[in-house]
Amino acid sequence: MANNNPIRIGHGFDLHRLEPGHDLVVGGIRLEHDRGCDAHSDGDVVYHAVTDAVLGALAKPDIGQLFPDNDPRWKAADSRVFVEEATRQMREAGYAIGNVDVTVILQRPKLGPHKMTVRENLAGLLGCEVEQVNVKGKTHEHVDSLGENRSIACHVVALLVRT
Ligand code: MG
Repeated sequence: MANNNPIRIGHGFDLHRLEPGHDLVVGGIRLEHDRGCDAHSDGDVVYHAVTDAVLGALAKPDIGQLFPDNDPRWKAADSRVFVEEATRQMREAGYAIGNVDVTVILQRPKLGPHKMTVRENLAGLLGCEVEQVNVKGKTHEHVDSLGENRSIACHVVALLVRT
């Protein structure tokens, strides 16, 4: 990479509609719920936002450019493949994860009991320690689509360090 900065920061955001009759997959875990994501892939907002945070830090094309939602190859895809590709590009560019901070906005169900598993899943995919990955859960105070349990969103900040 022409720009040889010792650190690079990236931000990722994703949102999906929640509809009855779909699975709810969050950070690689299928949560028990009465609805889930109506999305082209498995609709995992955490994996999608993490992918974009890493790609964004590298100033590379984003998840929508790499994996178009009209491409049948990514129909119902396990979103771990997106994080794996971002990790591959990160390593190729000579960077590793410094730390990643994830905020999931979901009215129901509670994310708390699953946070550690999500952190472990992300650390495994990103090739770092669990201590370098944080996951926070927020409700949306019952307002707007997020608070009315009609959508789920995720914000991620990722710091990459030169290897
Ligand atoms: Mg998405």
